Parts: sequence; structure tokens; C-alpha cells
Amino acid sequence: MGMPTPGNRPETLTGLRSAVAREAAVVALLTLVVAVASGLWDLPGRVWAWSRSTVGPLDDVVLLLAVSHLFMVFFGKRRAADLKAECVRREQAERDLRERARTDPLTGLLNRAGLAEELAAAVDDVASGGRELAVVMLDLDRFKEVNDTLGHAVGDALLRAVADRLAGELRQDDVLARLGGDEFVVLLRGAAPDAVHRSTGRLLDALRLPFEVDGLALEVDGSLGVATSGADPAELLRAADVAMYAAKADRRGVVVHSPELDRHDPAQLRVFGDLRRGIRDGELRVHYQPKAALLDGQVRGVEALVRWEHPERGLLPPAEFIGLAEATGLIRPLTDVVLARALADCRRWRAEGRALTVAVNLSARVLLDTALPERIAGLLSDHDLPAACLELEVTESAAMQDPTQALDVLHRLRALGVTLSVDDYGTGHASLSYLSRLPVSTLKIDRSFVSTMELDDDGQVIVRSTIELAHALGLRVVAEGVETRRTWERLVAFGCDEAQGYWLGRPGPAEEVVAQVAAIESSTTGSGPAPAALRS
Ligand code: C2E
Ligand code: MG
Ligand code: MG
Repeated sequence: MGMPTPGNRPETLTGLRSAVAREAAVVALLTLVVAVASGLWDLPGRVWAWSRSTVGPLDDVVLLLAVSHLFMVFFGKRRAADLKAECVRREQAERDLRERARTDPLTGLLNRAGLAEELAAAVDDVASGGRELAVVMLDLDRFKEVNDTLGHAVGDALLRAVADRLAGELRQDDVLARLGGDEFVVLLRGAAPDAVHRSTGRLLDALRLPFEVDGLALEVDGSLGVATSGADPAELLRAADVAMYAAKADRRGVVVHSPELDRHDPAQLRVFGDLRRGIRDGELRVHYQPKAALLDGQVRGVEALVRWEHPERGLLPPAEFIGLAEATGLIRPLTDVVLARALADCRRWRAEGRALTVAVNLSARVLLDTALPERIAGLLSDHDLPAACLELEVTESAAMQDPTQALDVLHRLRALGVTLSVDDYGTGHASLSYLSRLPVSTLKIDRSFVSTMELDDDGQVIVRSTIELAHALGLRVVAEGVETRRTWERLVAFGCDEAQGYWLGRPGPAEEVVAQVAAIESSTTGSGPAPAALRS
């Protein structure tokens, strides 16, 4: 397996060698010239005669010269030895520095920079007709749980064990790198598609055997994305990334990238890379929109709505990226960020004297994550919040897909004490009686029904009968998309429980929530809040 390789030897040593060789040649040549001259013209006799007539006896001078020469030879040799040692030391230091820049200190594998070099070289090799290349992106499943529950020391030890085990499955020519966190990349060289299939299968099998760390038998799993074609290293890595997320999302273990995964749109791939980086680099923002009780105008909860602060495109609404996040599995890390942020903000409002509940939207994919209830329980206890502070909104279709698995997760969430709501009711195909059998307590009527309620009588009949039926089935009702006072008043008359909409307040940053809520409540009249004070 290709580990970091030393760079070229620095030129200093080679330069020194050739300088010494040149000087030795000059000395040999001069000696030869002097020897020939001496034989031809009796040089010693002439020098002897000359010295007697001018500088005195030559013997002393010869002795002096000989001694100084000896010193010169001695010190010269020492200096040459020092110089050589210094060169070797510098060469080693440069090599160490280069290695360190390319190496992941935790596992000793290549890091992102090292991988970039190896990958660029491999891509060049393929372009010039060399051996085939497969890029495998590997992400551990359940590593985060180990890290969160057993601590970073165990997490680190597990990563080292994983690195060793993966390295053990590779051939001499393959390259293994850790990009950070629990993400690894393998470059498989010269492997035909069936060999790639076998290698990835071996890697996955190896991962699935328990790891012995600190006397604990830890089990992890992995998702592998494979890319075999791509014009440049960045594209190959992105393609492997997309495939890996598809593997993670569909729990398929290994997925080989195909153009359909990008929905034939290279721009999607770029956005995917951007979003992934954005989530990691903290570019997600969470805004909050209040919900007010129709009975008394009091605000008891807010809904968390994600935004993406894109470095070039500015603040993006969820419609621009949630679909992509759902299709690629990025929705899970995204939801984790929103949940953590929402609970931290909820905790802060409570400290400021505002006991608000916070609602977080869960996509269908996230409901298939059987570890979600434990993660949420952990987050609640991390923030020292009772489960009743958290509400989770799922769409009808999310609750209906893969009913057994999603239902199990919903029941476990309900058992925690978290409130569950059906979001955007009316846009799916679920019957109210089916929904009432789910462990949900609230129904949110989609804004498309509420905001158009004033346009015709039919719209009002739909909203009113939905409220009545939901109440009969024991569900609370929230009306989304309340944009006018008139709608608010009608909802009061229909006996709806809560309202949410631009007329009350638009979604805004966490810091503005307490003031916004106070403004809504202070303007509450017998028939509800006054709009002028509420619009931001
Ligand atoms: P949603 O959960 O139904 O959220 C309500 C959406 O309606 C928000 O749009 C909100 O700004 C908008 N809205 C509120 N009041 C009114 C109104 O009076 N009139 C109109 N026309 N619209 C109103 P936003 O923030 O763009 O979110 C859109 C959707 O994106 C959300 O719909 C939700 O399905 C999804 N979303 C937002 N944040 C997350 C998240 O963290 N995770 C997931 N999975 N989905 C999210
Ligand atoms: Mg919602
Ligand atoms: Mg909604």
C-alpha cells in the first residue's frame, strides 16, 4: 500500500559531491603539471638556488608550509564532515516536514493534501494510458455515536483501529488516506470493475467485524461510494462523495457512481460539494417563526427553519437545497446541525425568561435513521432541556413511507416525551383517520389552504371541516400561512388552536425571537394581535 514517499534528495549533497570531484581533478592536474615541469627543468634545484639568494634557507619555509598544509588538511576534513552532516540533517528535516504536511497525525495515513498529490499523479497516469483507477470514499456509520457516548479518546483509538484494518485489506499499490473525522479515501490502482467490487466488499466486511478498543467490543459499519471515471481529481472525489451519500441514505453499503445519481446535472454535483462543505464549515443558519395561540394570542412555541449562508450566493432559503440534501443523504448532518442549534437557542430563551418550545422539521430520510431517538435524547440532556420543549414536524408522506421503520422511530420519539406534528397537511394522500393512529398530537394545515381561504367559500369549508375532524380525532390544529387579520379572525371562529404566518411574524434570527414574541403578545387584543406592530 502506498504510504508517503520521500521526495527527491535535495541538491546540496549532490552539489557538494561534484564540487569535491572538480577540485580533486584540478589538484591532480596541477600536481601532474608540477611533476612534469620538475622533471624537465630541475625545479627543486632552481628554487633552492633562488631561495638562497633571496629569502634564506628553504628548509624552514618548506617545513612551515608543510605544517600549515597539514592543518589545512585536518580542518578541511573536519569542515567537510560537518558540512556533510548538516546536509544530511537538513535533508531529513525537509523530508520530515514534507511528510508531516502530507500525513494525518492520528492514523499515520495520508491526509487530504497527501491524497491530493497521489490522486493527481494517478489521474495523470490514467490520462497517459496507465493503469485504471477507482476512487473509493468511505464514511463510517455510527462513529459519531461512539465518539459522543464514549468520548474522544475511544473515538480516536477506534479510528486508528479502523485505519489499521483497512490498510490490512489493501494491496501494495493502493493508497489509503483519512480526510478528517470518520472519512477515508482509498485509491485502487489497476483494478477491473469486478476486482473493484471484490475490494470494496472486502473493505466493508472488514469494517463490520467488531473492534476491540479499551476492552470494549465496538461495532461500526460503513458506506462506500466508488467513482471510476472523472476528468480531474476534484470531479472524481465529488462523484465518489455523491455515491457514498447514496449508499448511506439507502443503506446499500457500496454504491458505484452513475450519472443518474447527479440527475444528469453537473451543477448539482457542485452544489452538493458546496453544501457538504457549508454544513461542515458552519454556514447553516437557523431562523425561527413564532406560532401564536388563537385563544389568547400568546406565543408558546417557534418553528426552526434552516437557511444556508452561501459565501457567494448569500442567504439561501431551504427550497434551494433541502431537496438536494434529501436526495444525497446530507439531510442527516443538516438535521443534526438544526437540532443542536434549535435546542441551544431554546435553552438561551429560557434563560432569558421565555419558555418557548421549538419545532424542527424532519425529512422522510431522517425518520429511517434508527439511531435518531437516542441522538435526540442525548442532545436534550446535553442542553438540560425536558423533552416537552421539542416538537418534531414530519410530512404526511414521510410518515407513510416505509411505515414499519418510520413508525418505530416515531413511537420511540414519542416515548421520549417529544411532541410530534404532521406538517403541510393536505398536500399528501394520507387520510385523517390514518394519521390519527400515528403517535402524533398536532396537525399543521398547509399554508396553501389557509392563505387562499379568503378567496372562496370552498376554501373555508375545507379548513373548517379539517379542524373539526382533527379535533374529533383528538388532534390539535395549527394553521400555517396566516397572512391577514381576517384569516386570523376566521380561524378563531373555527376553533383552530394555533396560527403561524407572516401576519404574526416572519422567520428571523434567534437573537430577535424574544423581542418579536413580546411584540406579538403586547399587541394582542381580544381578537388577536395587531398586524402593524408585528411585521418586521
Ligand atoms: P414548513 O415546515 O411548512 O415551514 C413553513 C414555511 O412557510 C417556511 O418557509 C415559512 O417561511 C413559510 N411561511 C410561514 N408563514 C407564511 C405565510 O404567511 N405565507 C407564506 N407564503 N409562507 C409562509 P421556508 O422557511 O422557506 O421553509 C420551507 C420549507 O423548507 C419548510 O416548510 C420545511 O418543509 C423545509 N425546511 C425548513 N427548514 C428545514 C429543516 O431544518 N429540515 C427540513 N427537513 N426541512 C426544512
Ligand atoms: Mg414545518
Ligand atoms: Mg409546513
